[in-house]
Amino acid sequence: MSTSARFPIAPLFEWVRRTDVHAAVRLSLLANAFRVLDGEEPSSQLERNALADRLERWRYQWLNQQRGRLAPEDRRWLDCLDLMANDLFGRGDRPPRRTRQLIHDRRLAGPEIAEAWQHLDPARPLAPLVERARTLTIERFGEPATRDPRPASGRRMLLYAPLYLSSHCINYCTYCGFRYPRDIQRRHLSFDEAKSEANVLLKRGFRHILLVGGEFPRLTTTEYYAQVIEWLTREGVAPAVEIAPQSTCHYARLAEAGACCVTLYQETYDETLYAEYHPKGSKASYDWRFEGLDRAADGAVGRLGLGILLGLADPVEDTRAMMRHAAYLQARHPDRTIAFSLPRIHEAPQGFRAPYRIDDDLFVRLYCVLRLGFPDAELVLSTRENAALRDRLADICITQMSAGSCTAPGGYEHRKGNGSGEQFPVSDHRTAGEMAAWLTSRGYRVAWQIGAR
Ligand code: SF4
Repeated sequence: MSTSARFPIAPLFEWVRRTDVHAAVRLSLLANAFRVLDGEEPSSQLERNALADRLERWRYQWLNQQRGRLAPEDRRWLDCLDLMANDLFGRGDRPPRRTRQLIHDRRLAGPEIAEAWQHLDPARPLAPLVERARTLTIERFGEPATRDPRPASGRRMLLYAPLYLSSHCINYCTYCGFRYPRDIQRRHLSFDEAKSEANVLLKRGFRHILLVGGEFPRLTTTEYYAQVIEWLTREGVAPAVEIAPQSTCHYARLAEAGACCVTLYQETYDETLYAEYHPKGSKASYDWRFEGLDRAADGAVGRLGLGILLGLADPVEDTRAMMRHAAYLQARHPDRTIAFSLPRIHEAPQGFRAPYRIDDDLFVRLYCVLRLGFPDAELVLSTRENAALRDRLADICITQMSAGSCTAPGGYEHRKGNGSGEQFPVSDHRTAGEMAAWLTSRGYRVAWQIGAR
């Protein structure tokens, strides 16, 4: 089918003229995109990617301006922009991104998820839920036929470490130690400094490293991350990233460099609260963040990590929304691995008080509900939580844990203990070796590299 048959040019141009203050620039971009898609203008894949990137960003400008509240006509043409960008990018046909509508569609939740949600009711007993989550985890992540009587029955636990590359950030997230314009000692690691930090982690045994960085366009560029990722990949590491949302093309660049996983927490799915917690900076753009994992999957990233920051909003409603989001991603990208994490606010800077209190039993319940709804998902737990609770959750349903973490750039080489420069304080201070020894003593197979089940 010709491009003009798929995307009717005249009404699209008319909509742009009528609605866009930058119509002249947009029309020229569109005309260019049509010529390339119709093969009238020879172009390299790089040029096609650049065009796709501009169409994609234009669509998000619209979504942000309207805060997702679109008239049917706007929706139709934004879908066109999305699909044109996809064609230019050279990926196969797919339905348009409708994340925002579908996330509120209860039909997205299959029977497993719907059943799991019943256990969000705090009146339901926790013990049987814990047992089901434990059994499911052993079934999906354990050795097929082990006679080992220890509680984990030989199941795999992946250990990883975060590597903080930069604490510079332009965002105002009210709960974060790196928020702008907070007066803290900030640090951005050069490529050589990043290698030195990574070498500390390599010596500790880690082969799965999560690169973390604030959003600071002049420093934390896609190419900067790609350079670190390429080096890590050559060293036999499977690198993941927890960085600002990227465009599809930039995610593709990170995947090509070797990034195996993108972790992108929505923080909260409650849009009103989201706007309060993210008053300024690019993170204020809900849609750009919300569709980030979909773009990462389109960019060929293999693992998609979702999360909510517990304490910011109603944890039950946020958990439901996150599970619908995951179901949406799973339906669109069935070959991707889904991972969940539930970071919980314990301490926050400048007197920030999390309005929702999440006690340990609710915390455990939420993880168990995720296991029931997504039996094959990776459930990730960080060192924000104390050792006793981490041990308890490890024995129930967690499949991936950080260990020996430091949350300040440069902190592994020049460890000074807790203090300024950290994004959040660590509660479990066991070293990677101590963590691995404890896991082994409980009957786990400790994995340092992603991939093994
Ligand atoms: S949460 Fe992330 S984006 Fe927000 S201020 Fe902290 S580092 Fe920056």
